[in-house]
Formats: sequence, structure tokens, C-alpha cells
Amino acid sequence: MSAPPTTLTNPSRPRVGAHPAASGRETDLGRKRRARRINRTLAVGYPEARCDLEFSSPLELLVATVLSAQTTDVRVNQVTPALFAAYPTAIDYANAEPERIEEIIRPTGFFRAKTRSLMGLGQALVDNHDGEVPDTLEELVKLPGVGRKTANVVLGDAFGVPGITVDTHLGRLARRMMMTANEDPVKVEGDLAELIERREWTMFSHRMIWHGRRVCHSRKPACGACFLAADCPSFGAAGPTEPDAAARLITSEDRDHLLDLAGVGE
Ligand code: SF4
Repeated sequence: MSAPPTTLTNPSRPRVGAHPAASGRETDLGRKRRARRINRTLAVGYPEARCDLEFSSPLELLVATVLSAQTTDVRVNQVTPALFAAYPTAIDYANAEPERIEEIIRPTGFFRAKTRSLMGLGQALVDNHDGEVPDTLEELVKLPGVGRKTANVVLGDAFGVPGITVDTHLGRLARRMMMTANEDPVKVEGDLAELIERREWTMFSHRMIWHGRRVCHSRKPACGACFLAADCPSFGAAGPTEPDAAARLITSEDRDHLLDLAGVGE
């Protein structure tokens, strides 16, 4: 994709329920074009989008992703510097005293189960991969406790292999934007893979996740202040369409930029 522009030219307000996709009148080609346009618009909104977990190697990202279950990336990033310093290699996890790992990762919750996962992972990497993290989906998902979501995170962000990471945000947004009707993350991944260019998969995932965290919230999406509103068939279905009320739902540091893009001046 060529370098994205830095502003949007048409942040127009749609009418609730008026999008052709909302009444099943969108063609397959129309959906693909709209999905790709949404990705380009997201690139303008989130030029800095990236994985929020901090890491410097595939092993560190794998470990951080395991820790990120049921907690925030911020909390994971608070414990990983000490963890990575104490356990720099897979064999260190395999040979660890569980109590020491538990103590370090306790703030991330479920620390006993996560410790068992990390030790099992370390052992599997030592036994089957000479202590290295494999770089294929097939091998990654064979590791204990590693599902497709974790595998795609590692592939996309540590190895540069395009991957679609269907977490709770991406799944919700893809359904709201009617890019999929499926709930099963594997099916959602397949549907998105049909719509989005392969080389864009990783960044598309990050951008959608950032949009889900900042604007398209689970309970009350900020539809009236959303810069994707013109392309979203769910505009107003779950969140306020009134610009001021919607703008108050956006509290991230890049709030002014996001509101500018949506044409909602304050
Ligand atoms: S905030 Fe509203 S308009 Fe924006 S993507 Fe989410 S549902 Fe669609």
C-alpha cells in the first residue's frame, strides 16, 4: 500500500440503517472494496498502530502474549522487563522454579496457570525446536497453550509473516462492519483473509484493535464521532449518533486527531 494521506476528505455523517450492507444490498465486490477502503482510512487514523506488547525477540513476544490473557497489555509490559531479564532463553523457563515466575507475573492474574504454560512452552521449545520459536502457524499451534490468535501475533510481529489476529476487538468490529457474520474466530479470520490484501493482514489487525480500544467500544461505540461512520453499516446501532455525546466517549491521547478526522470539532 502506498503511503497513506494524513487527512480524510469526506468524513460525512450517514443516516442510521441507510448503508446498503445494513439491508443486505451489498455485493461481494462492494464488500471487498469497502473493507479495503476502511483499512486505508484506519491507516490515516492510526499511523502509529502496532503491537502494544513490548518485546525484543520472538520468545519474548510469545511469553508476553501468553501473559496477556485476561489482562491488559499495559499490565503485561509492567512485569515483562523483570521476567525477560531473569529468563532469557527457553531452557530457563523449562528449568525454572515455578514460585519465582509466579512472584514476578502475579500482577497479570491467573499467575499459577500462566506459570505452568510458560514452563510447558519452554520445555516444548527445548524438546522440539532446539530452544527456538518456530516461524510457521502449523508448528506454533502445536506448542502447549498456543492458539491461532497467539500464533498469528508472533508470526506477524516477530517474524513479519502476515497474520490476522482475531481478538475480542477485531471480532466485534468485523461483525459491526459486516465484514463477517461469524462468531468463531477461525471463521472470522478466514472471512477477513478473503477481503483484505495479504500483505496488509498484520497492520489491518492492529488498526482495527486500536479503533476498538479508542472509538468502537464494546458497550457504547462512539458512532457520532467515528471517522469510519460513512463506511459502517452499524452506525448508530449501538452507540450515540449525536457528535458531542459520542465525542465524550473518546478519551485516548490521540483524541483531538481522531475527532478532527471525524469532522467533529470541539
Ligand atoms: S463506532 Fe459506530 S460507526 Fe464507528 S465503526 Fe463502530 S459501530 Fe461503526
